[in-house]
Amino acid sequence: MRKISVFGATGSIGQSTLDLIARAADDYHVVALTGGANIDQLAKDAIRFRAEVAVTCHDHLLPDLRDRLAGTGIEATAGDHAIDEAATRYADWTMSAIVGAAGLRPGLTALRHGGTLALANKESLVTAGPLLKSEAAGHGARILPVDSEHSAVFQALVGEDIGAVEKVTITASGGALRDWPIEKLASATVEQASTHPTWAMGQRITIDSASMFNKAMELIEAHEFFGLPSTKIDAIIHRESLVHALVGFRDGAIMAHLGASDMRHAIGYALHWPERLDLPVGRLDLARIGSLTFSEADPVRYPALRLARDVMEAGPLAGTVFNAAKEVALDAFIARRIGFTDMARVVETTLNKMFAQDGLAMDDIRLEDIIETDRIARVSAWEAVE
Ligand code: NDP
Ligand code: MG
Repeated sequence: MRKISVFGATGSIGQSTLDLIARAADDYHVVALTGGANIDQLAKDAIRFRAEVAVTCHDHLLPDLRDRLAGTGIEATAGDHAIDEAATRYADWTMSAIVGAAGLRPGLTALRHGGTLALANKESLVTAGPLLKSEAAGHGARILPVDSEHSAVFQALVGEDIGAVEKVTITASGGALRDWPIEKLASATVEQASTHPTWAMGQRITIDSASMFNKAMELIEAHEFFGLPSTKIDAIIHRESLVHALVGFRDGAIMAHLGASDMRHAIGYALHWPERLDLPVGRLDLARIGSLTFSEADPVRYPALRLARDVMEAGPLAGTVFNAAKEVALDAFIARRIGFTDMARVVETTLNKMFAQDGLAMDDIRLEDIIETDRIARVSAWEAVE
């Protein structure tokens, strides 16, 4: 039996992961499930999968979670420290699907006991890529990509030499507002930015798709994950979201990865790697689909992509600043304190301010440096919001 834990179990990726686990429940022993406010779902899943421990990040919800799990023998715990403690419990395979920088610490802790970390939480790699990779290498652990584009690149690279790669291109749907006139974008509401044309995802990543901050994060994620320079990584608009990524090689060949827009593919690939097993995802009927379209991402419409390039060139702590400022800008937009196009302004202002200081390009980065940089960047970003 494989021991598994799911961090962010109550979210969109977490639920898709549990859907796959449920289909072969006898093959898995669930160690830990973690969630946030949705303790109803957390308790139900903990009971359904007979988890050892269920953890909510909210301390005040502990009594309620305990009540729901009373008499089941399942431990209930709460708080960030409890999530981290759950990550110290050995699992062969851990899904990192908490949203935001909060996913970093449990991911790092899980890597320290070896095993596989299936990484949906792209914020970890953007915030602390070198640290995650060195922890994995130092403990014989493996990080597998779950973000669909990165899973696609990873699959296209099987048996290939990374030195032969000329260009990695990840695709973007263009998000909820892709057909809006650019002048109207400033007035886009939270609701308007929260509907994705092709993927069903959590609200934060859906808004990030509309602003293309999600794709910007993914460019940095690809840079960290595959160790490629920014000049070899690109994003292209592909409205149908059926081609997830393309890898171009030095001989002119391009390997494209196609599949239904269903995260269970990338999650299932990471779950069963290096094997491929049956997955309950739709099959593409290309003759029916007829045509696939591609176009350049407009840099005026999507300033986030330009900022991502600056970040890749500036060094790892720039990723920490970028992620922190982006999270603040998104919080401020969701709270209706700034407009849609102000998000890029807040991130750019924060980056410029922090680029002006020393230290963003340092190589040997410790967790404390990242936490401190993240803290300062958030303060600076809130100043830019005001
Ligand atoms: P959701 O918002 O749907 O789920 C987030 C999960 O994290 C929930 O379990 C939530 O609990 C929990 N959570 C929220 N805040 C905290 C916190 N401070 N500490 C601990 N747990 C917390 O997000 P998604 O599933 O959409 O995304 C998860 C991650 O995967 C993100 O990093 C995202 O960028 C990435 N990703 C998602 C994709 C998708 O298709 N959804 C595609 C590719 C990557 P609760 O809901 O109970 O409050
Ligand atoms: Mg993606």
